[in-house]
Amino acid sequence: PYKGPSRVEVEKIRREKLTPALLTYYKDPLLINQGHMQWLYDNEQRRYLDLFGGIVTVSVGHCHPKVNAALEEQSNLLWHTTNIYMHPKIHEYAEKLIAKMPPHLNTVYFVNSGSDANDLAMLMARMYTGRYDVMSFRNAYHGASPYLMGLTSLSTWRYQVPSGFGVHQTMNPDVYRGPWGGKNCRDSPIQTDRSCDCQPGQCNACDMYMEQLHDVIRHSMPKSGLAGFFAESIQGVGGTVQFPKGYLKKAFDLVREKGGVCISDEVQTGFGRTGDHFWGFEGHDIQPDIVTMAKGIGNGFPLAAVVTTKEIADTMKTSNALHFNTYGGNPLSCAVGSAVLDTIEEDGCQKVSKEIGTYLLEEFAKMKQQYPMIGDVRGKGLMIGIEMVDDAASRAPMKAEIIGNIWENAKDNGVLLGKGGLYSNVFRIKPPMCITKEDADFALAVFKNALEASI
Ligand code: PMP
Repeated sequence: PYKGPSRVEVEKIRREKLTPALLTYYKDPLLINQGHMQWLYDNEQRRYLDLFGGIVTVSVGHCHPKVNAALEEQSNLLWHTTNIYMHPKIHEYAEKLIAKMPPHLNTVYFVNSGSDANDLAMLMARMYTGRYDVMSFRNAYHGASPYLMGLTSLSTWRYQVPSGFGVHQTMNPDVYRGPWGGKNCRDSPIQTDRSCDCQPGQCNACDMYMEQLHDVIRHSMPKSGLAGFFAESIQGVGGTVQFPKGYLKKAFDLVREKGGVCISDEVQTGFGRTGDHFWGFEGHDIQPDIVTMAKGIGNGFPLAAVVTTKEIADTMKTSNALHFNTYGGNPLSCAVGSAVLDTIEEDGCQKVSKEIGTYLLEEFAKMKQQYPMIGDVRGKGLMIGIEMVDDAASRAPMKAEIIGNIWENAKDNGVLLGKGGLYSNVFRIKPPMCITKEDADFALAVFKNALEASI
């Protein structure tokens, strides 16, 4: 049993002593004391099904015994030297991680967070191309450093300071809320891979969004051209936005034609999350030049990485500068990362993502038929978004108060959901990839009950 300070005492410390800009979920924030696999336990031993996995971070399960064992073993051997000496764990792990990538992506830099990784990727793109300007999508989240505050184009995460010099945004190709999308890509009843499925001539979304990208490159940027283009395979924080089929491939082709490099941010979509593939980008038939990864890579341990080609990595040496990161690739995080990769394989996490994710998508899509307040159900594998609306025809985002009621009700009944999207009206479901069908049924029943209670 929990023996620490009460929930109210902890909340008081948080409000008074921690940064006031901290995001705190729920009217009565939970005091989480323990986790085991897909479950979290609060200070009163109440159990919650964790459908948000610490924002997609817990990949194989909270306190997974295999990962815990690897961490413990390494913690008794060596914690830290910085990379100034060699250590077998970092080299073993680098090889194991690279083995998961397409052959041209063969060089890895270890860092500690997704922001670190994207900062480094931006620097690499600039060093390699000798250009400065980079592009991301409106509605993207790539991190919170001053560099990245510009690349992250959601106002929620931006302060009124100069940030993101040389960053440009193109429209995010959202076939539900954006201006373009055909009948099929908006209204198909059951979609388990909800990119636009329209036949040629039915829908011009892909072409229209491509035209937008072209337009920004042609008219908004310096004539010297683009250094890099950042894209998530499915937008995470932005509300599980999937792009029209073929869009990313065409976008990558255009960026390359203009001399830029293509960066896939796999912080949320990597490590089997989308079910069909280990990396989200594989679902788009694209070959990035740089891949950034964090969150699920360490199952909650601070670990992130940038994987790129030898040629791009080599340009990091050109000005005789060194790239240094005190904790990047420390023995503890490499032991954890390595155990996570083994566990994804041994526990069949990708298969769980595919099977349980598809089941959830199908069941939520059926629920959509019954409840017009569910405007859209989309995603792939265990990366699911449920966009809530006031009115199915106008797609006006559901009022914050009703969203909040549904969310609180689900929590009170033992299910933790995430939220996101431009209007914070998308429920985000991204549980640890050890969830069972029984858990999925429980979650569906709780969600339905929460909808009923809010009508
Ligand atoms: N990229 C994506 C797609 C993310 O979702 C996030 C975090 N939400 C980041 C980068 C930044 O990661 P971190 O918080 O570890 O800096």
